[in-house]
Amino acid sequence: MLPLADSYGRVATDLRVSLTDRCNLRCNYCMPAEGLDWLPGEDVLTDDEVVRLVGIAVQKLGVTEVRFTGGEPLVRRGLVDIVRRTAELRPRPELSLTTNALGLERTAAALAAAGLDRVNVSLDSIRAETFAAITRRDRLSDVLAGLEAARDAGLGPVKVNAVLLRGHNDDQAAELLRWALAEGFQLRFIEQMPLDAQHGWRRDTMVTAEETLALLEREFSLEPAEEPRGSAPAELFSVDGGPATVGIIASVTRPFCGDCDRVRLTADGQVRNCLFAREESDLRGALRAGATDAEIADRWVTAMAGKRAGHGIDDVSFLQPTRPMSAIGG
Ligand code: SAM
Ligand code: SF4
Repeated sequence: MLPLADSYGRVATDLRVSLTDRCNLRCNYCMPAEGLDWLPGEDVLTDDEVVRLVGIAVQKLGVTEVRFTGGEPLVRRGLVDIVRRTAELRPRPELSLTTNALGLERTAAALAAAGLDRVNVSLDSIRAETFAAITRRDRLSDVLAGLEAARDAGLGPVKVNAVLLRGHNDDQAAELLRWALAEGFQLRFIEQMPLDAQHGWRRDTMVTAEETLALLEREFSLEPAEEPRGSAPAELFSVDGGPATVGIIASVTRPFCGDCDRVRLTADGQVRNCLFAREESDLRGALRAGATDAEIADRWVTAMAGKRAGHGIDDVSFLQPTRPMSAIGG
């Protein structure tokens, strides 16, 4: 086994695989209303290529967790089959999905049967008007149905990820938490990051973790939860004495780069050692040129070795990566 180690002593064991850059929502902090220039079909890894690369990661590089994301992974036709084939790998990786939940109502049971362990659903508001204003689609009821189906299919604990946006839903933090507690979902707030295609992010207007906590503390009593955080990005707080918790992922104001254990594979087969990396390493080209598994593994190890110490969002010299979040895989 070759570990995916970098020069700062970190070892990546958590692989995020983007299965498509396409999406059926248009969240305003992620994509412009008209969408993006999607990757040409022939550039996107085939199902067989995805399964082969995940297999190399799991069997040769020590990856133990695989999360499928996008774009919207549920729009990828081969998703259930990819899950089934990756669940057959030994050692078996933990398999999860990050999704907007549109269509999950129909596929949750099949995904669970194929071997998916958990889902994270992105939902920024439980008010239909706010949801439609942020995502530019009137689909809240589909998301709620998808969440319920995920819970019924045993894809839990179901986590719900919310981004607070000034002027849209920053008045709804406590409402979201109240709802998540009642439904038994684990809510986590994610700080908005400079990863939108429109370059609309501004440090001075983003809703910070500190502000989110203050908004929640108007209604709830929060205490740092005792469990060790490890490489998990969320800081957990127990709510009203526990056992329920709420998570805060403060990627901008309290970066956790020192404990990062992630590596990313884009839908077109490029390895990125960081969400904010400015370089990628082309595995698809190697794969299609006939490289062996060992050669691909070597290339992957080299790509990880060059991982930087941190993303530096708060530095004046910070440069946003050229690909937006939806193309990298969030
Ligand atoms: N479409 C799926 C979804 O929304 O869950 C998966 C891909 S999406 C890019 C993954 C996560 O990234 C979502 O939770 C979304 O809210 C988050 N995200 C997208 N753009 C972001 C940004 N600029 N800052 C912080 N989070 C962002
Ligand atoms: Fe689509 Fe997810 Fe981006 Fe929203 S955050 S536009 S659901 S990829």
